[in-house]
Amino acid sequence: MRVVRTASELAEMLAAARAPGRRVGLVPTMGALHEGHLALIRAARAECDVCVVSIFVNPTQFAPGEDYERYPRREGDDLRAARAAGVDFAFVPPVEEMYPPGAATRVHVGELGEILEGASRPGHFAGVATVVARLFNLVRPDVAYFGRKDAQQVAVVRRMVADLAFPVTIATRPTVRDRDGLALSSRNAYLSPSERRTATALYRALTEARSRSGGDPVRAEAIMREVLTAEPNLQLDYARAVDPDGFGEPRPGGPVLLVVAACVGRTRLIDNMMLEGEP
Ligand code: AMP
Repeated sequence: MRVVRTASELAEMLAAARAPGRRVGLVPTMGALHEGHLALIRAARAECDVCVVSIFVNPTQFAPGEDYERYPRREGDDLRAARAAGVDFAFVPPVEEMYPPGAATRVHVGELGEILEGASRPGHFAGVATVVARLFNLVRPDVAYFGRKDAQQVAVVRRMVADLAFPVTIATRPTVRDRDGLALSSRNAYLSPSERRTATALYRALTEARSRSGGDPVRAEAIMREVLTAEPNLQLDYARAVDPDGFGEPRPGGPVLLVVAACVGRTRLIDNMMLEGEP
C-alpha cells in the first residue's frame, strides 16, 4: 500500500496504476476506521482492480461549535487497517491540499442539502459535496463506495453526480452494527458506558417502528418518538418517515425510509432503516 499526501503524487501514482479496462474504486472516509469502513473497502477490493481509500477530516462539513477539533484522528491504526484490508493507495492529504489557498467554491445541492441533517447542521452537506467533488476529480474513480448509515449523504452525492455529470458509479453498502444494534460510527468513541447503553435507543426505535407500525409511516413516526422521548438522557432531534431519494414526504405506496437523529450527552448520532423489506 502506498501512502500518498499530495494531489500531484496521487495523479502520478494513479496514472501508472490505471490501464484500459482496470477499474478504480474509491472509499472516502474521515478515518478512525471501523468495520463499517472496512466493509466498503472490501467491496471496492472485490469489485475493482485498484482500491483507493481517502482519510481526511473535512473541516468544511463541520458547523461552527461542532466536533472538528476533537474528532478522532488515528492515522497509524488507520493505515495498518487499510493495508491489512488490501488497499492499494491511502490518500491522506493535509487541509491545504484539499483547500489550496484562495479556494472559495462550494457545491450546494439545493433543498435536499437543507432539510433534516442539513437543517440541524448548516453548511454540512455543502462541505460534503465540495470535498467529494474534489476527491472525484483527483482520483477519477470508476466506482465510489458509501455507507447507507449516512443515507442523506448518499442521496446528496447521487444528486450531485447526476446534476454535474460526474462519470462515476455510486455504490452503497448496508449499515454495519454492533451486537446490540448500535450503528458503528467513529463518534461512538465519545460515549461513556452509560451513554453507550442509552444510544441503543436509536436502533430500538427503528426496529420497533418496523415491527409495530403495520407499514404505516405516520404510526412509525409516532412509535419512534415514543421510544426516543422515553429516554431521559437522550435529546431527540428528528424521527421521520421519508421518501428515500428526496427525503421529503413518502410517495403513496412508495418505499419509506425511517431516519432518526438524537444527541446522547454531547454526541450527535444518526441512524436509519427501511420501513419494510430489507432494513
Ligand atoms: P465517515 O468516516 O464517518 O465519514 O464515513 C465514511 C464512509 O463510511 C461513509 O460512506 C459512511 O456512510 C460509511 N460508514 C460509516 N459508518 C458506517 C457503518 N456503521 N456501516 C456502513 N458504512 C458506514
